[in-house]
Amino acid sequence: MARGGSLAGLARGGSLAGGKMSIPKFEECSTCGARHPLCEPHDKTSFFYQIIFSQEHKREVTWEDAMRHCDEETKEFWRKELRERGIDPNT
Ligand SMILES: [Zn+2]
Repeated sequence: MARGGSLAGLARGGSLAGGKMSIPKFEECSTCGARHPLCEPHDKTSFFYQIIFSQEHKREVTWEDAMRHCDEETKEFWRKELRERGIDPNT
């Protein structure tokens, strides 16, 4: 993954669910250490998150893990966006 990528901000720009959702509030996330709306996936590229996750689960974090807490609509959005970028959500 290229550094400085904007994956964590994918859902911004009004494409999420065609404006059905209100503008997400960015908050400091205690799980991944990034600032993102808490209803959206953790920043899987966050080094902090990767370390914490692998210590806890004895394996590498995947995008599916990063969005486990999201609702199905959000997950589908992210899976699609990731695949369009050539990223397997299971990695
Ligand atoms: Zn997070």
